[in-house]
Amino acid sequence: MTNNEEKFPTATFEEKFKMLAVMSDTDRERAAENVLYICKDYCGKCPTNQGTGESNLAFCTLGKSTIIQEHKGCLCGQCPITKTMSLRWEYYCTQGKALELSEAKRR
Ligand code: SF4
Ligand code: SF4
Repeated sequence: MTNNEEKFPTATFEEKFKMLAVMSDTDRERAAENVLYICKDYCGKCPTNQGTGESNLAFCTLGKSTIIQEHKGCLCGQCPITKTMSLRWEYYCTQGKALELSEAKRR
């Protein structure tokens, strides 16, 4: 096991983001596909998204929606990506991606 693999489970979002930055393109594509696959069951089914006509997902990674505006509940806290990536925010669809929230020092 590499040093990063040992540290990953307990690292902060910022530390994990740095570790993932050195991934190969293939691994990065695979990880992005995995986020979308998982997100279908959370963003895809949450009350804030339902009925808006939004077809994008993975707002924590790809950035905010141009359609969703009204908060009606967020399922991100139940999504495995929150734990995997140590995310600590919610409503990425209106607030923007995790990296932006981190850089804006939102706790
Ligand atoms: S970020 Fe939260 S509120 Fe927005 S679509 Fe995803 S689960 Fe719903
Ligand atoms: S944390 Fe939220 S935006 Fe990110 S993949 Fe999970 S449900 Fe989607």
